[in-house]
Amino acid sequence: MKAITLLGSTGSIGTQTLDIVSQYPDQFRIVGLATKRNGQLLAEQIRQFRPEIAAICDVDQLPMIQTAIADLDPQPMLLAGEEGVVEVARYGDAEVVVTGIVGCAGLLPTIAAIEAGKDIALANKETLIAGGSIVLPLMQKHGIQLLPADSEHSAIFQCLQGVPAGGLRRILLTASGGAFRDLPVEQLASVTIADALKHPNWSMGKKITIDSATLMNKGLEVIEAHFLFGLDYDHIDIVIHPQSIIHSLIELEDTSVLAQLGLPDMRLPLLYALSYPDRIPTAWEPLDLVKIGTLTFREPDHDKYPCMGLAYAAGRAGGSMPAVLNAANEQAVALFLEEKIQFLDIPRVIGKVCDRHHPHQPQHPHPR
Ligand code: MG
Repeated sequence: MKAITLLGSTGSIGTQTLDIVSQYPDQFRIVGLATKRNGQLLAEQIRQFRPEIAAICDVDQLPMIQTAIADLDPQPMLLAGEEGVVEVARYGDAEVVVTGIVGCAGLLPTIAAIEAGKDIALANKETLIAGGSIVLPLMQKHGIQLLPADSEHSAIFQCLQGVPAGGLRRILLTASGGAFRDLPVEQLASVTIADALKHPNWSMGKKITIDSATLMNKGLEVIEAHFLFGLDYDHIDIVIHPQSIIHSLIELEDTSVLAQLGLPDMRLPLLYALSYPDRIPTAWEPLDLVKIGTLTFREPDHDKYPCMGLAYAAGRAGGSMPAVLNAANEQAVALFLEEKIQFLDIPRVIGKVCDRHHPHQPQHPHPR
């Protein structure tokens, strides 16, 4: 039985992780739960999964949760605020901490979990993009595993099992193309929030769905892949694959290409991150290639989606630039969701911010 702590338990990653845990109660046990602000759902989750510890970032909701679970015996340790989330991250005998908190808020708890010697099932992009230069040496120091829970990086990680050191030549990240993949570039200026939130294949949180529509999500994944797998940016490519069946591919030094395939369901990479290195039998719908029929690929359109180029440039600039790119993107997406800027302003804002930033170049860590 694997002991798991879940950060961001009420979000998309969190609820899907708990769905897995409830399907395999003899495989997984929840030690800690933490979330930003959905106290109501957290209280229900505490009731169902009976963690030893739980925290809510929004301090104001603590009394409501206390009341909602007052009848539970034994009572979990209940904390609030950012420090509470950090405490959950490092607490107890959890072997794996799933980091499903969106944004830079996920960074400090992740560092706390690593320092407590816990493996990380990584679903928070900022950990590597904003914190890669801190997190990677820390991981090595504490001898912990970073298990990618994102579908693309999980695919690469799965393909790499059994590939000897030095065997990897190139990474091919697949991209669905997002909500506007079939929309002519002229029409992008007038798209609405509702349009952008309609993802063709994946069901995800709001921020990441907008990031998919701008393809910044793919750009951020390129930077993550650089940190996770140690290839330089000339050897990480993006290919548009509208069916989202191939979750990513690797090319080896002898030109052999390996791919990981599956239906677009986040639970699959999450399950592998939790069960690694084991494979847990599931009754989930298997992939039927004949039913899928066709897998297609095309070149990403850099003029239509400038966010990819911005991400490559920030990754190559290194130092603090990926963190700045990421922060600018977080703010630009928030402004778009508040209807304060247009869709095409998102890359404009990010480009301006990055232009003004002179990256600090600390000890640029050599990726693994
Ligand atoms: Mg992804």
